[in-house]
Amino acid sequence: MREKYLFQREFKYCLFIVFIAIFLLIVSQDPASPETNPASPDELNRSGYLLFKQGEQAYYRRNFEAAASYYRQAADLFNSIHKRHPGWSADALEDRLKICRQRIEEAERARAEQKAGERLLRVHFIDVGQGDCELIQCPNGKTILIDGGKIWCYPFLVEYLRQAGVKKIDLLIVSHPHGDHYGGLIKILKIFPVVTLLVSGKEDTTEHYQRYLETVKSLKSIKFKLARVGDVYSFGDVKMLIVHPSSRLLDSPNNCSIIAKVSYGRESFLFTGDAEEEAEHEAMSRGYNLKSTILKVGHHGSRTSTNPGFLARVSPREAVICVGKDNYYGHPKPEILRRLKSRGIKIYRTDQDGTVLYLSNGITHQVEFPGKAVYPEYNIPKERRGKIIANRETLIYYLPRSKYGRQVPPEDRVFFDTASAAEAAGYRRYWF
Ligand SMILES: [Zn+2]
Repeated sequence: MREKYLFQREFKYCLFIVFIAIFLLIVSQDPASPETNPASPDELNRSGYLLFKQGEQAYYRRNFEAAASYYRQAADLFNSIHKRHPGWSADALEDRLKICRQRIEEAERARAEQKAGERLLRVHFIDVGQGDCELIQCPNGKTILIDGGKIWCYPFLVEYLRQAGVKKIDLLIVSHPHGDHYGGLIKILKIFPVVTLLVSGKEDTTEHYQRYLETVKSLKSIKFKLARVGDVYSFGDVKMLIVHPSSRLLDSPNNCSIIAKVSYGRESFLFTGDAEEEAEHEAMSRGYNLKSTILKVGHHGSRTSTNPGFLARVSPREAVICVGKDNYYGHPKPEILRRLKSRGIKIYRTDQDGTVLYLSNGITHQVEFPGKAVYPEYNIPKERRGKIIANRETLIYYLPRSKYGRQVPPEDRVFFDTASAAEAAGYRRYWF
């Protein structure tokens, strides 16, 4: 009984001591208000410096809005030191404030430029030699790729698309089934995820085309669509209107080319593939407004395309000819160049200008020339030097000293000791 009493008394003491300890802890941690215990100027200076540093980091990460906000908070802190402690290192504070003001201005300017850039439509007429390839990057981040040049373009094309920031292709358009348009896509389809594939519906029987079809069929996640006149595809503010073909396909693959008008604000681009006169007439007969700011000249400037009536209806201010230097066909034909010039149309050519890049804000545009096609070259391991290099994508082989052998990406290389061994395996010799 007595023990129980003692225990209760000790317990009360303990409770009392714990209560006092908690009370003292709370009192000791009570933050004094700035009025009664202001932070020292050194502390404020340090906080300002930390905010400034956070601004620098945000600027480096190109988050200019956050950077401007950090710089402003830092400036406010430095200002407050000046007000509360007028005697504290006025010169140093003035220096800090000056730098902050400069940085705020820089970050605001960079943000304004960034915002303008985000609203730009980027249209690349990519130099792929004799062939077509156009990349369209919409302001909302969606990506359209029209054609992919010949099959041996792919090492360059993959590199170009990666450098342009392409991670996924939302709409891949194969204008028509000719090798200078779908060739490079055999590899592109294996590397970049493609959401929708838009085709004319015309088929071809060549070996390469069958390989392209096999690749397409092996990719189960792709959505297929037939391009049909009147269809409209929207990518935010960018609209794409299909003006050719209809479901009644013409006999020639060229004349089945998808003709698409891409509009952004007041500017528009007309993509024509290799459409010839017959397709141009059909497109005109349907009454759609073909008028466009920029025309991708049909069929690499061949005289089979860009008939005067069509050109008058499109009435472009500028024209781009996708064509290879010294090509076998003599494209572009002088009469087509004269026809364009006589209408005062400014001409860009991928054989002379390399890739032609349009940056449009929907009202006006500027043109840049990011360069000509440059194929990456890869090292050949020592033990493989002197061997024949074949490319399993293009099914072409190169003799040991050919520089083109070094352009075969390592993952696509196959080595042979002799030319006949390469040929027995189904490879053909590069003919240049
Ligand atoms: Zn072509």
